[in-house]
Amino acid sequence: MSDARSIATIDLTALRHNASRLARAAGGAELMAVVKANGYGHGAVPCAQAALDGGAGSLAVASVEEAEELRLGGVSARILIMSPLAGAGFDRALAAGCEVVVGDDAGVRGMAAAAGPGRPARVHVEVDTGMGRLGVAPDGAMALAEAADAAGCEVVGLMTHFATADERVGPEAGFMMEQLVRFRQLVPAFRDRFPGAQVHASNSAATLRDPDAAFDMVRCGIALYGCSPFGGDPSDDDLIPVMHWTSRLAQVKPFTSRMSAGYGRTWRAARGTWVGIIPVGYADGFSRDLSNNDEVLVGGRRVPVVGTVSMDLVAVDLGPEAVERGGEEVVIIGRQGDERITADEIARRRGSISYEVTCAVSPRVARVHQG
Ligand SMILES: *Cc1c(COP(=O)(O)O)cnc(C)c1O
Repeated sequence: MSDARSIATIDLTALRHNASRLARAAGGAELMAVVKANGYGHGAVPCAQAALDGGAGSLAVASVEEAEELRLGGVSARILIMSPLAGAGFDRALAAGCEVVVGDDAGVRGMAAAAGPGRPARVHVEVDTGMGRLGVAPDGAMALAEAADAAGCEVVGLMTHFATADERVGPEAGFMMEQLVRFRQLVPAFRDRFPGAQVHASNSAATLRDPDAAFDMVRCGIALYGCSPFGGDPSDDDLIPVMHWTSRLAQVKPFTSRMSAGYGRTWRAARGTWVGIIPVGYADGFSRDLSNNDEVLVGGRRVPVVGTVSMDLVAVDLGPEAVERGGEEVVIIGRQGDERITADEIARRRGSISYEVTCAVSPRVARVHQG
């Protein structure tokens, strides 16, 4: 038995399965594995390696620091930095041999200035087709690509990002198609002018939803980690959850009726029961929003979280007939017996998305990579 308070076991066999599943969904298009934010909380370097082994052809991150971490970890694959750089970030990106997304003149200027002999400034031009975030307006896309080329950059990509690919039904379900139409209009002229450059648009949801949006490459994150990009059950899309977050019952004690657990006395025993204390709290990434609003697995059954989640601890009601007396395994995310709790389920309880659930698992929780 480990002495860790809790452990996030990362199943790299599952990750390789998910990568090959996405590569298949992408048809002939390249799979770019998105490993930003420490691989959505799963550990960037081992996940990048597993994704490449599973069929990914390249990697994407948000920041130059994340790219440097991959290089230090021995990853030699192509890396695309997707969020805007500033200051010395351009130099560092090129020193790390990365490609960079540009969506305005400042990005082009920064990349052109950082280029040098043996340090090509490879850029992907981002078009804002409706995400309303980064990128140039569609009617300025060719001009920005031309400006990048004239400034000495190598234009190697044209991309956009969907705002509603995860909504298969509902009022915004059709907006992805509108964005796709706007993007598609730019593609022929771009391909004529920059043959060999890659055109890409799809995230995980779009990759699973519409193979026609794959173009030359798809950029997948969440599905790689076995979470449903649609907020549902990952197995519906043949995805296997990668993170298993487990702990132990640190203490088990009898409660008589009306005894309370935790700060603010937000829960009181309605009857005599056994309460288990788990050494996990919001500083570990177990959100305080889960106070009186979550279940964990103990002995193969679901037991409710009771009381307010503290920084380091949380209580569960094991019930009057509990057989546990301390030391037993607790599953926060993952399987135990026939029961399973997904990051998607926790996200639904919190009114959030699985991305935030796994990203929030803090550095205090040891990652153990297996498979
Ligand atoms: C994070 C990100 C992705 C990956 O999205 P998922 O929904 O996790 O697949 C793709 N493209 C861009 C621009 C991103 O920022």
